[in-house]
Amino acid sequence: MSQLKIENLTVVFDGKCVLNDVSFEVKKGEYLCVVGENGSGKTTLMKCILGLIPLKKGSVLFGDGTDGRSVGYLPQQSTAKKDFPASVEEVVMSAFLGKRRLPFYNTKMREKALDCMKTLGVLALKDSSFAELSGGQQQRVLLARALCASSGLLLLDEPVNGLDPTATKQMYDVIKQLNVKGNTVVMISHDIPSAVRFADRILHLSHNGCFFGTVDEYLLSGFGDGFLKDGAK
Ligand code: ADP
Repeated sequence: MSQLKIENLTVVFDGKCVLNDVSFEVKKGEYLCVVGENGSGKTTLMKCILGLIPLKKGSVLFGDGTDGRSVGYLPQQSTAKKDFPASVEEVVMSAFLGKRRLPFYNTKMREKALDCMKTLGVLALKDSSFAELSGGQQQRVLLARALCASSGLLLLDEPVNGLDPTATKQMYDVIKQLNVKGNTVVMISHDIPSAVRFADRILHLSHNGCFFGTVDEYLLSGFGDGFLKDGAK
């Protein structure tokens, strides 16, 4: 069953074509890694999926009861956000800010937040200050927030950026666990060896055309050769 279908997506900024006729489909429960050099349009693609950028041409279609508002989004982290003055629980609960009808959270929302914190291993930190956590802990809290907002589709923009090797491994493991439990994952990554290890399919954006296919097809295509290290798979 299709969870996300992108057809002939074209985005132009100031007369410059950033995405040119990009098409791909993500089935429910799949893990797609989006790779490509800086400036190839990976973040722009995510913003199109979230409905934040007007499309010049093409379409973004959601399946299985998902829409742009029920996508769990983990944005690229900036230093400013790391100092966010709130508790872990408040950060996770903010997933519901645009969805509640009354100015407070209901029991179902609180229960979902606790469940997501437990899944991400941050429940014991729920009353801690978000700003005082390690980078790895902060990313797991933000992933718990994305999971709370999601109805099954997670969009993750470079979730291991800036993490040390231990925290990176923990983050990749927890993302894979979420995927094994049935969440569909679309992840932007610069780390092609890890992308081919964890993902089912790869979308490689480039100024000279793009590749979309299974990991095996990607490895045969030669598209990522310059980025792959020996023994990546
Ligand atoms: P990536 O995530 O692959 O590094 P981006 O999607 O951030 O690439 O950016 C792709 C290109 O689009 C870059 O050249 C960037 O400068 C340009 N771009 C991104 N957002 C805008 C915008 N809002 N207005 C104009 N140009 C933009």
